[in-house]
Amino acid sequence: LIELNSIQKVFFTDEVETHALSNIELSINAGEYISISGPSGCGKSTLLSILGLLDTVTNGQYQLNGHQVASLNATQRARIRNKEVGFIFQSFNLISDLTVEENVALPLTYRDDFSSQDIDKAVKEALEKVDMAHRANHFPSQLSGGQQQRVAVARAIAGNPSIILADEPTGNLDSKNAEAVMSLLDELHREGATICMVTHDPRSAKRAQRLVEILDGKVIADNPIARGVQAA
Ligand code: ATP
Ligand code: MG
Repeated sequence: LIELNSIQKVFFTDEVETHALSNIELSINAGEYISISGPSGCGKSTLLSILGLLDTVTNGQYQLNGHQVASLNATQRARIRNKEVGFIFQSFNLISDLTVEENVALPLTYRDDFSSQDIDKAVKEALEKVDMAHRANHFPSQLSGGQQQRVAVARAIAGNPSIILADEPTGNLDSKNAEAVMSLLDELHREGATICMVTHDPRSAKRAQRLVEILDGKVIADNPIARGVQAA
């Protein structure tokens, strides 16, 4: 599904060069549930932005579902991102002046394979999945943090993406809401979703099947997580 070879990402700001990713090798198969962890500043969010086609690489090859990403222009990248990727952020990133259902529908309105009936159906199903259908006409500010994140999960899954990318999805949630979002991810994975989640919480990381550890822009460990092992 995903193949990253010798990925480098350098940010140039003023006189400073930051080597955020120095040599990332990573492949992700369909149906995998991966956690990515590592110290602050090691490049996790940068990696996720690249995987999600929100940012481009400085060097290296990225192949997503048969697309050579480097050969795409910005319009093609945006189209593929909309179709293939669902993003969940730490800070929810819902649009404050759109209702819950409008937020979930928004990415689908850019798709040429979704009629307006298809959109209505997909939005309804996604909101039911995350148990937020009863808040369809609310605005994000009228929801709790946990509810906002569930809406963000609905937005991420409504378009039936090839991969769900989550950057610290429980970072702004209390333990009860964090557990609700983590069980949702578990459920999506059981139903066949491919998930790549950045987390610094070792307990959340263990919910995945595979743990990728990053240090200074490189993968330093990549191991399966033993099934049935739950941290205390
Ligand atoms: P955290 O756990 O704190 O979220 P992270 O592993 O997600 O950290 P990144 O956000 O990927 O880290 O950042 C990696 C490095 O790249 C950092 O040194 C950061 O300052 C730098 N960086 C990230 N984005 C940019 C940018 N847009 N411009 C310049 N430098 C950046
Ligand atoms: Mg980060």
